[in-house]
Amino acid sequence: MRMNTEGLIIKEHKTNGDDRLVTVLTKDYGVLRAFVRGAQRLKSRTQCGSQMFSYADFSIYRGKDAYVIDEIQTKEIFFDLRNDIGKLALAQYFCELQYELAPQESDAADFLRLTLNCLYMLSKNKRPELQLKAIAELRTLSLAGYMPDLVACDGCGKFEDDVMYFGTYDGHLYCSECVDDVPCEELPLSVVTAMRYICYSQPEKLFSFTLGEENYPILSDVCEKYLLNQTNRKYKTLDFYKSIT
Ligand SMILES: [Zn+2]
Repeated sequence: MRMNTEGLIIKEHKTNGDDRLVTVLTKDYGVLRAFVRGAQRLKSRTQCGSQMFSYADFSIYRGKDAYVIDEIQTKEIFFDLRNDIGKLALAQYFCELQYELAPQESDAADFLRLTLNCLYMLSKNKRPELQLKAIAELRTLSLAGYMPDLVACDGCGKFEDDVMYFGTYDGHLYCSECVDDVPCEELPLSVVTAMRYICYSQPEKLFSFTLGEENYPILSDVCEKYLLNQTNRKYKTLDFYKSIT
């Protein structure tokens, strides 16, 4: 069966020989790993389109024991990301999040759209890096089934308080009267509002919130802790991003 779908290269794997092995986040078939025929050869038609961050139309078929990509029509390569080591590292982290959390062998249109928008905003300096990082983390988690319950305090139902508390292990929100001995992050209300926005807004509105400069690090930090506690693993690209910024 031949599959024609749009996708984004989210990982390059080392191989010997002329074929390149890549992981693609595809719109219709989720995350899949495939060989790109002849991609390592000089002047190959598939060479450019099979690089990291290449967004393209892919023609894929199932070979004897692996998927094979034999045609690539490139749409965007996010060239600007390569001029800034910090942005490049963050972009790789966005891709690692998809590698870990996006589905396999099923529709992943929402994951692809989110990632493409994050890469675009990052490459064109459209939003602060920490805002994009938080959106990539929390929205990907929400799409993947880890959506926290941010509607109201889990104890008394209070909708908002000057300061609220978020449990990065249980994914619940608490007011100052109900927060007990649950390990929680203390958050200003504006950060809680931003988190609600990231989880609950329509895709086309996702990037249209702003925070005070001082609150982006708080938002980024709480979303990262929630990610690490929910998925219980390390992200190499995150460690690298943090080591250089
Ligand atoms: Zn309460």
